[in-house]
Amino acid sequence: VTTFKGKTVALFGLGGSGLATAIALAAGGADVVAWDDNPASVENAATAGIRTGDLRTLDWTRVDALVLSPGVPLTHPKPHWSADLARAAGAEIVGDIELFARERRAHAPDCPFIAITGTNGKSTTTALIAHILKSSGRDTQLGGNIGTAVLTLDPPKAGRFFVVECSSYQIDLAPTLDPSAGILLNLTPDHLDRHGSMQHYAEVKERLVAGSRTAVVGVDDSHCAMIADRIERTGTKVVRISRRNVLADGIYADGARLIAAQGGATREIADLSAIQTLRGSHNAQNAAAAIAACLAVGVSEDEIRAGLTTFPGLKHRMQPVGRKGDVLFVNDSKATNADAAAPALSSFERIYWIAGGVPKEGGITTLGGFFPRIAKAYLIGEAAPAFAATLGDRVPFEIAGTLERAVADAAADAGQDAGGPVAVLLSPACASFDQYKNFEVRGDAFVKHVAALPGVSMLVE
Ligand code: ADP
Repeated sequence: VTTFKGKTVALFGLGGSGLATAIALAAGGADVVAWDDNPASVENAATAGIRTGDLRTLDWTRVDALVLSPGVPLTHPKPHWSADLARAAGAEIVGDIELFARERRAHAPDCPFIAITGTNGKSTTTALIAHILKSSGRDTQLGGNIGTAVLTLDPPKAGRFFVVECSSYQIDLAPTLDPSAGILLNLTPDHLDRHGSMQHYAEVKERLVAGSRTAVVGVDDSHCAMIADRIERTGTKVVRISRRNVLADGIYADGARLIAAQGGATREIADLSAIQTLRGSHNAQNAAAAIAACLAVGVSEDEIRAGLTTFPGLKHRMQPVGRKGDVLFVNDSKATNADAAAPALSSFERIYWIAGGVPKEGGITTLGGFFPRIAKAYLIGEAAPAFAATLGDRVPFEIAGTLERAVADAAADAGQDAGGPVAVLLSPACASFDQYKNFEVRGDAFVKHVAALPGVSMLVE
C-alpha cells in the first residue's frame, strides 16, 4: 500500500492480519514500527524484516497513524494504551480494511468492492457472492474477516471484484469505508462486551452502508429498518431485503422463492427450494442480499441464478456432506450455542440430531419449539446429562458419548425411517473443547465418520 509512503506508522497487533499489514506498509515506503504483547509475534515480525519496538517509547509527535488489529480494543471495555497515545498525539487510528479502501480510491476507484456485515450470516453471504462472481468468470478477490487479510489479496485494478467480510471491529477502524455495494444483513445483540451498547454497535455497522454507493439492508429487525430509512434520507441508494415480509420495493423471500419488487410490480429472480446449501429462511436472507449486491455491480440475473445453483456452501455451517437413500448427513459443527443451532433445526422436517460438547448457559432449553421435528437425539460430551434432562420424555434420546458412536447409531436409526427424507444432523449447540480442539476439527471428524459408513455417497471430499 502506497497511501502511507514517507509517513511514520505505528502498528500494534502482529497476530492474524497485523504482520501482513506491516509488510504491505513497509513495502509501500512507510516507516513502520510494530509491536505486540506476544514476544513470539514480535520476533516473527523482526525476522520478516519489520522494525519492531515498544510503542510506549516512541516519539509520538512524529507518528502519522496508528494501525490496529481488529482484535485490539478501541473503545470497550477501555481503549488500548496505544489508542490513548495516538489520540493524545493527534495521529489517526485505522485498520487494514481502511488501508485497502484508500488504496482502491487512489489506484482503481471504479473496481467493484462489495463489503458485508451483520450479526449473523456474514461469511455465508460473502462466500456466496464470491462464488457467483467467480462462476461468471470474473476476476474475484475474497477476504477480510472470513480469513484472508485484505492486504495480501491481489491489488485493486479495473475489472477486479473485491468481496470483503467486515466485523464491527474492522468497520470501527475504517473511517472512510466506501464500498460500491455494502450489505448490512441483520442486527441482534452480540459482541456488546466490545462495543458497550447496542446503540454503539448499531452505529458502527451503520457506517458501512452509509458510505456505500448502493446500500443493501435487511429490514426484518427494527435497528436495520431504522438504519435503512435514515441513510435513504441522506441520499444513499438503498435496496431493502426481507426474509419475512412482502416489500413494495426491494428483494424479499416468499418461502424459498426470491422476488424482486419495484414500484409494486414483482418478478421471481430465483427459487432456492432445490438448492441444498441454501436451505432455511436465514439463507433466503443471505441469498437476497447476495442477489441485490451482485445486481448493483452489474452481474446479470442469469449469471446470479447459475451461481446460486452451484454454491458449494461453507464448511461446518449446515453443510450437506453425504447422502444414503433418503438420509442426508449435515455438518453444522459451527453451531456452538443453542441460538446458532436453531436455523439448522428449523431447516429440516425430520431430524436425527447429534448434540453436546461443552454447554453454554441455558443449554438447549430455548430449542423446545423444534423438539417435534427431532426423531431422536444422540448426546455426546459433557453436556449429555444436562441435555438428556431437558429432552426428558419429550424427545427420544440416547447418551452416545462419542461422535463416532453417535454417527453410527443415528445412521442406523435414520436408515430404518420409512417416513421420507430425513437428516442426520450434527448441530451440537455446544463448544467442542471437551473432545476436540475446535469446531472445525469436530466437523472434520463428523465427515470422516460419515465417510466410513457403508453405502454413503459423499458430497465433499
Ligand atoms: P457469521 O460469519 O456472521 O458468523 P455465518 O455465515 O458463518 O455467519 O453463519 C453462522 C451461523 O449463523 C450459521 O450456521 C447459521 O446457523 C446462522 N446464520 C447464517 N445466516 C444467518 C442469517 N441471515 N440470520 C440468522 N442466522 C444466520
